[in-house]
Amino acid sequence: MKSYYCLQCTMQVELVTIVQASLLSQVSRKTIYNWITQGKVHAYKTAGGHIRICASSLIRPYDE
Ligand SMILES: [Zn+2]
Repeated sequence: MKSYYCLQCTMQVELVTIVQASLLSQVSRKTIYNWITQGKVHAYKTAGGHIRICASSLIRPYDE
């Protein structure tokens, strides 16, 4: 995992893959995609087109 500056957290965070995010949150990958669509987690696209999730935003995705 690489440290990354999350514009929404305004701090350095770790980015994880969809699979890692689903394991961390103990939800299905489909739920992670739903959270991305709903803006409940911070998602970034890599240069290669892969989605990475801000690990910090996974802790309490139901806030806001
Ligand atoms: Zn974030």
